[in-house]
Amino acid sequence: MVNMPKPKKSPTSAPVMAATIEPKVSPKNSTTISPSRAPTISNTRAHKGELPETQKSLRELTELYPDFPFKVMLKIDVQRRGVIYTKAALEAVDPNIHMTTVSSDYYDKEDLSPVSLIMDDGTSIFTEGFLADTGLAPYTVDFDGHNRYLCDGDQILAKVWYWEKPDYYFKKTSRGTPMWKLVSARPQRLTIHPYQFCDFWKKAGCGCKFCVMAANFTSSRKEATVALDEILETVYEAVLEPGRNQSIFLTGGTIISGARPLDDELELYLTILKGISNLFGGRKFPSQLISTAFSLDQVKRLYYETGLTTYTADIEVLNQRLFDWICPGKSQLIGYEEWKNRLEAAVSVFGRGNVNTGLVAGVELAQPKGFKSEYDALEATLSEARKLCQRGVWVVGCVWRILTGSVFFRQKPPSLEYYVRLAKGLDSLRREYDFLPDQDNYRRCGNHPDTDLARI
Ligand code: SF4
Repeated sequence: MVNMPKPKKSPTSAPVMAATIEPKVSPKNSTTISPSRAPTISNTRAHKGELPETQKSLRELTELYPDFPFKVMLKIDVQRRGVIYTKAALEAVDPNIHMTTVSSDYYDKEDLSPVSLIMDDGTSIFTEGFLADTGLAPYTVDFDGHNRYLCDGDQILAKVWYWEKPDYYFKKTSRGTPMWKLVSARPQRLTIHPYQFCDFWKKAGCGCKFCVMAANFTSSRKEATVALDEILETVYEAVLEPGRNQSIFLTGGTIISGARPLDDELELYLTILKGISNLFGGRKFPSQLISTAFSLDQVKRLYYETGLTTYTADIEVLNQRLFDWICPGKSQLIGYEEWKNRLEAAVSVFGRGNVNTGLVAGVELAQPKGFKSEYDALEATLSEARKLCQRGVWVVGCVWRILTGSVFFRQKPPSLEYYVRLAKGLDSLRREYDFLPDQDNYRRCGNHPDTDLARI
C-alpha cells in the first residue's frame, strides 16, 4: 500500500498531491480530445481585443490555436490547475522504480506520491509543491491496470508516466546521508541546491512574493548549507549511470555576505563547480548555474576557474515597477536596470546563447499593482524580452504556480490563453534572434513551455 496523504474536503482546495478519489478510467467509454496540429506557427503577436480576459477551456483553445502543440498546452494547464491522484494511480507507484522523494531548495518531499509526470514525447509536467486554492479544479491522474492517464472529468487527455528515479538515489554517502537529499534529479539532469535558504527572507518584506523558500525552510528544519563534500561524493556516484544525465545544474537562495556583496554565494558555487570539474579532468562540462546576478568580475571567476558552460540570473518579471514590488530584495541589492546590465556583461564572458534569464510568467498580472489587462501584460513582457534578446540575453518563462506559503497565495492565475500567447511569443523571439534554447530545453530542464516549442 502506498502512503496516501489525508484527503481534503473539496477537490478544489486539495493540495497538489493530497486527495484521492475512486478509479474511473475506462478508456473504451471515455471521450478524448484529439491533439490538433497545424504545420505553421503564425500570428505570435497579440492584437488588441484578441486576448479576452475569460478563461477559455483547453478544448476551445486547441481549436483557436491549432498550431500550438496539444501536449504543451496541456502541460501549462496542469501546472495552473494542479493534479490529484486516484487511489489506483497511487497504488501504481513503485518507489523502487519511480521518483517519490526529492530534496529541493523549496522543500523535502518524502511521501510516496510521484514527484512529477512525463508524456510520451518527453514533455515533462512539474507537479511538485502545494498549490494554493485558486478556485480551479485540478486534473486527475488515473490508472486502468495498464497505463496512467491524465483526465479532466470523464475526458482522458493523455497517457502519462511517473518520473523514474536514478540509480544513485537510495545509496548513502560515506557519512550515511541518503544521496537523494544531496543531489536531486530530473529525468535527464542532476540538480544541486547547496544553499537552501535565501538572505532576502532575513529582512522583513524583502523575499520575492511568489516564493515559498522561507515558509518551507522554517517548516522543514533543514540545514541552510548542504555539506559540500557529500554533494561531490553524490555527483561522482550519479554520473556513473550510463545514458541518464544531460547536464548538471546548480541553484540556491541569495547569499548577500562577503568582501563584496554576493562573494560568499560565489565562493560556494566555485567550490562545488571546481570539485565537479576535477571529475571531468578540469574541462568544461554541460552545466547551468542560476544565481543572483553577479558582477562582471564575479562572472569571470565562474567562467575561468570552473567547467561551467552556461549562466542564468532570473529577473522574474520584466517590468521595473513590478520588479520593485514583487522582488524587493533583488531590487534593493541590485536593481532592475543593473540586473539587466549584469546579464549583458555575462554574455561577454560566457558567449552569446549561453546566458539567459527566467520569468515567473504570469506574476506580472498579480494584483493590486500588476497589469490589469492580459493584453497589456503580454505586450509589455514581450517588448522587454525583445530588448534583452537584442543585448544577447534570451528569456524563458515557467508557469506561475500559486503556492501555499507564498505572499501571493491568494492571487488568481492568468488564463491558459495568456500562457499560450506568451510561450509562442518567447519562442518566436528566440527564433528571430537565432538563439538555441539548449541550456533550458526539454531534456536539460523541461519546465518551460516556450522551450518545448523549439522541438515540435
Ligand atoms: S531570490 Fe527571490 S525567488 Fe529566489 S529564493 Fe530568494 S526570495 Fe525566493
